[in-house]
Amino acid sequence: TFDAGFFVRWLEAAASAVDREAGLLTELDSAIGDADHGANLKRGFAAVAELLAKEPPATPGAVLVAAGRQLISTVGGASGPLYGTLLRRTGKALGEDRGVDRERLAEAFGVGVAAVSQLGGAQVGDKTMLDALVPAAEALRISFGAARAAAEEGALATVPLQARKGRASYLGERSIGHQDPGATSSALLFAELAGTAR
Ligand code: ADP
Ligand code: MG
Ligand code: MG
Repeated sequence: TFDAGFFVRWLEAAASAVDREAGLLTELDSAIGDADHGANLKRGFAAVAELLAKEPPATPGAVLVAAGRQLISTVGGASGPLYGTLLRRTGKALGEDRGVDRERLAEAFGVGVAAVSQLGGAQVGDKTMLDALVPAAEALRISFGAARAAAEEGALATVPLQARKGRASYLGERSIGHQDPGATSSALLFAELAGTAR
């Protein structure tokens, strides 16, 4: 099973990955948004890593809830409340157990992803982070590697779509032909999760 330390290591790895890929995320967001996705997540995940290093919570659920709250309070863009809700609601679904297995985590992520969909009113196919998150949470029932692959595939599949939610939707048909920044960062988060589990 995976303990609180595993989730702290995942979020630290996520902070490094977001820092490393901030340029790419911002470049994607400059094509169909306002060119701040990299900066938004960099600020948010740096604050998460700092918080977890200072006061590491004792359970997986508490780690995710604390990280989610930190994202909500430090990221101004749409992605802050959305990713914050994902982590907070996934953490709440994990309850107070000190160890969780992959199946349990997959179930909890399902709850978190549903909360993101409810908050933002988006579904798969709307060209948002949900295009990566929904298949990833589903594939996590099989393995971490399957979740990573499903998220990556979901992010790539946003290219031909027209955005129906978020800033990119203002562009209408001009949003077609670009990969969604949020789906790309979601794929990054699941890649780091798989890397941490290995
Ligand atoms: P902002 O658009 O406020 O500048 P970001 O650039 O940080 O925020 O994040 C943009 C990403 O947020 C998009 O690429 C998309 O994946 C995601 N997003 C935006 N609106 C929604 C929504 N309603 N539901 C799900 N995801 C969304
Ligand atoms: Mg933006
Ligand atoms: Mg913005």
